[in-house]
Amino acid sequence: ACEPRKFGYAIVGLGNYAINQILPAFSECQHACVTALVSGNKEKSNRIAEQYGIEKSHLYSYEDFDKIADDPEIDAVYIILPNSLHAEFTIRAFKAGKHVLCEKPMAVTVEECQNMIKAGKEAGKKLMIGYRCHFDPVTQKAISIACGDQLGKLKIIETTNAQMLNPTDSAGQWRLNKKLAGGGSLIDNGIYGINGSRYLLNEDPIEVKATFVPTDNPIFKEVEDRILWAMFYRSGVVSHGICSYSTNVTSHFSLIGDKATLLLDPATTYWANKVSLRQSMHHISSFKSTFKFDQLNQFSAQLDHLPISIARKSETLATGEEGMQDLRLIKAIYEAAYNNSSVST
Ligand code: NDP
Repeated sequence: ACEPRKFGYAIVGLGNYAINQILPAFSECQHACVTALVSGNKEKSNRIAEQYGIEKSHLYSYEDFDKIADDPEIDAVYIILPNSLHAEFTIRAFKAGKHVLCEKPMAVTVEECQNMIKAGKEAGKKLMIGYRCHFDPVTQKAISIACGDQLGKLKIIETTNAQMLNPTDSAGQWRLNKKLAGGGSLIDNGIYGINGSRYLLNEDPIEVKATFVPTDNPIFKEVEDRILWAMFYRSGVVSHGICSYSTNVTSHFSLIGDKATLLLDPATTYWANKVSLRQSMHHISSFKSTFKFDQLNQFSAQLDHLPISIARKSETLATGEEGMQDLRLIKAIYEAAYNNSSVST
C-alpha cells in the first residue's frame, strides 16, 4: 500500500527490466507508487512484495489477472512482458477499468496496436508506451536543438542501436523466439532509432528500403541479428539505421545539417546519455560543445507522467498512436528487406 493520494501501479511481469530499473525507480516518484504485482512465479512475487511492502492480497497470477478490476489500489498496470503478450494484457487491463503503461514495442503487429487503442477508448482509459527517452533531459535538449535553426537545413540522420544478446539467459531466450518477440534486433533495439528519428525530425518517412545482413551464427534461426534500412522524407532528409544483437552495446544518433551536426552518443542508455553540437570552422577544425545536465531518473519521471497527464486531461508524450506508427515502420522495413524492394509508407 502507499499514500492514498498516490497513483498505484500493478507491475505485470517481474523480469530484468521490472526488477532492476522500474521497481527501484518508485522511490524517486512524486505521484506514483507500486501497489500490486502480477507474475507467473509465486516465490519471486512473494519475495519482491516483501521488499516493496506490498500486501499479499495484491499479488496476482496471469490466470487471475482479471480480478484486478476489484482492486481499488490499482489505478494502472505497467506491462513489462515479452512483446507478444503486450496486446492481450493491455486489453484485459482496459476491460478491468485500469489505465495502461505498456513497454516498447507496443505489440508485434499493427492490428494488435489498433485493438489496444480501441480498447482504451472504449474503457475511457489512457494508453501510454514505455518510451522512456522522452523523460531524459538529454533527449529533450536534442529535440529543442533539432527543432531550432542551429543545424541549418537538416539532410541526414544516422542511428545505430546494438547489444550482445545472451542466448543462455531467460531474456535472451524469448528474444530469439519469433512467436514471443515478434522479430529480432529491429523490434527490440532498432525501434529506438525509428522512434528517435521521428521525435528528432518530427516528420514521417514516405519510403523505406532495407536489407538483412547475413549471419552464420546458429542462434539466429528465427529472428534477425542485423538489419540495415534507409528512410526517405518529403522534406528531402534521408535517415539510415542499423541494429544488431551480436555486437558491443551501442546507441548512437547523429543529425547532420548544412550548418552543424548534433550528436547523441550514447543516445538511449539508462543513465549515461550525452548530447553535443559540432560545427565546422574554416572547413578544417571543428568546434564541439557538449551540454551538461544534472542526472535525472527517467524511469521515475516516466512513471509520474501518466498520473500527471490523467490529472491534466492531456495527451502523454508517448501515446498508443506513436507506438503504432513505429510498428507500421518496422513492418515496412521487414517487408522491404524480405522482398528486396522499396516500400511506400
Ligand atoms: P525478461 O525476460 O527479463 O522478463 C520478462 C518477464 O515476463 C519474465 O521474467 C516473466 O516474469 C514474464 N513472462 C511471462 N510469460 C513469459 C514467457 N512466456 N517467457 C518469458 N517471460 C515471461 O525481459 P525484459 O525485462 O528484458 O523485457 C520485458 C519487456 O520490457 C519487453 O517488452 C522489452 O522490450 C521491454 N524492455 C524495455 C526496456 C526499456 O528501456 N524501455 C528495457 C528492457 C526491456 P514472471 O516470472 O514474473 O512471470
